[in-house]
Amino acid sequence: MSEPQAVAGKQRPLIFAERLSKLFPVDGGLFSPTRFVRAVDNVSLFVRHGETLGLVGESGCGKTTLGRTLLRLIEPSYGRISFDGQDITQLRQRDLRPLRQRMQIIFQDPFSSLNPRMPILDIVGEALDVHKLAKNAKDREEQVSELLERVGLRADMRHRYPHEFSGGQRQRIGIARAIAVKPDFIVCDEPVSALDVSVQAQIVNLLLDLQEERNLSFLFVSHDLNVVEFVSHRVAVMYLGRIVELAPAEALYQSPQHPYTSALLSAVPQPDPNKRRLRLLLEGDLPSPLAPPTGCAFHPRCPRAEPGKCDTEQPPLIELDPGSAHRVACHFPNQ
Ligand code: SF4
Repeated sequence: MSEPQAVAGKQRPLIFAERLSKLFPVDGGLFSPTRFVRAVDNVSLFVRHGETLGLVGESGCGKTTLGRTLLRLIEPSYGRISFDGQDITQLRQRDLRPLRQRMQIIFQDPFSSLNPRMPILDIVGEALDVHKLAKNAKDREEQVSELLERVGLRADMRHRYPHEFSGGQRQRIGIARAIAVKPDFIVCDEPVSALDVSVQAQIVNLLLDLQEERNLSFLFVSHDLNVVEFVSHRVAVMYLGRIVELAPAEALYQSPQHPYTSALLSAVPQPDPNKRRLRLLLEGDLPSPLAPPTGCAFHPRCPRAEPGKCDTEQPPLIELDPGSAHRVACHFPNQ
């Protein structure tokens, strides 16, 4: 998928990854590794301005690594990343700094990312300091107060410390810190997974309001398919480091083409009996990424696998119909 193809006739993407891979050495030492784990394997995707791309898959499939590699918090092993038309793959960290302001991340566990010894004023203010966005101490304090109010906290809470807040409030602080620098793109890495269901809805709605208000682009990483359906314009499904299906959210949820997507969706609790799907049980566990299966990596668990084809030929991620936005990596899609 080249960038012009990806956006033919549509708005230019804000972030674009082409054949992105991340390999981690697993033994032989840092300087002479002998084996690698392919955490992200040849992934191409893009996110448009103001769009949410959901990224789903079982834990350990590479979602978090992909999100961090896009931001270059983890360095890619192969492939290309461009941001707003600029190739950032090889940019030195110093040259990347101005762009860092435009690319932020919200973590699953905000507590571990909030310095327990700093008041919220400094935690959020630090983001302003790094990018020199406050004129003076008074301006800094005013900006932090406004940000706290924008995310649903009281301005006077800026003097408190992280341990004085609930999980939902801490996530609001994480969001305030991320939006402080007026980013365009945010990787939301399981942002509501650690929260109670009632609090999840509040945080999700806050993110959607901020997206509309500021035309934000999100990569929304989650294993919760209900949340992803609610927030996403398009959804990518990841299995063992590769994208196996990528489609507009409605198409993916109503007509999944990859057997893995079908199995994930069939396991989602569905209160409406008319919408319930036949439960498809996946056999076995996620294979070790150290020794991925040959051919289609999903074949040992796939009820539709054809010996002689699926176990030998890796299916490419291709459009279901020419020109459609629905891509699937399967020799025998549902269609
Ligand atoms: Fe199943 Fe074969 Fe499709 Fe892989 S390529 S998902 S094994 S049918």
